[in-house]
Amino acid sequence: MKAVFLDRDGTIINDPNDLRVKSESDLNLFADTIESLRLLSDNGFAIIIITNQAGIAEGLITKDDYLRINDAFVQMLKPSGATILKTYMCPHGESDDCECRKPKPKMILDAAKDFDVDLKSAFMVGDRPSDIAAGIAAGTRTVMVKTANTYVPAPNAEHTADTLLDAAKYIIANT
Ligand SMILES: [Mg+2]
Ligand SMILES: [Zn+2]
Repeated sequence: MKAVFLDRDGTIINDPNDLRVKSESDLNLFADTIESLRLLSDNGFAIIIITNQAGIAEGLITKDDYLRINDAFVQMLKPSGATILKTYMCPHGESDDCECRKPKPKMILDAAKDFDVDLKSAFMVGDRPSDIAAGIAAGTRTVMVKTANTYVPAPNAEHTADTLLDAAKYIIANT
């Protein structure tokens, strides 16, 4: 399976104040999100979402809220025609020291096992250094996008792109 692992908040959806998505109305795609996913899909990549949702640990949202919001999120991506294989989510906070929270690679490794993804040729794309670290720890290629509210460079990323669309173009041109 040819796949791209994508972070959600700040990468696929705009999260300008790092407020965390608390309801469906907080789900705002970037202007180029649909086009980016369509481009990846047209070039044979399936999409797997890898997201930390510490808002659950902090009590901002419940797990049920998250599941409902995730359904709406996946629906919003439908116009792209992309296959969203699954959303992997860590509900823990930083202090929980769990096994799944990025920068740990477990969610990516689980997804690779579930969908028989070749990690060496897969990409992890995200807006934070912890996304890049998770990709590297899992053995994927990595692309950083500069779409976070506060951009912190990840010098160890294979490539840094201004936007998700630029990331998609890089992936296609370099595969
Ligand atoms: Mg993010
Ligand atoms: Zn976790």
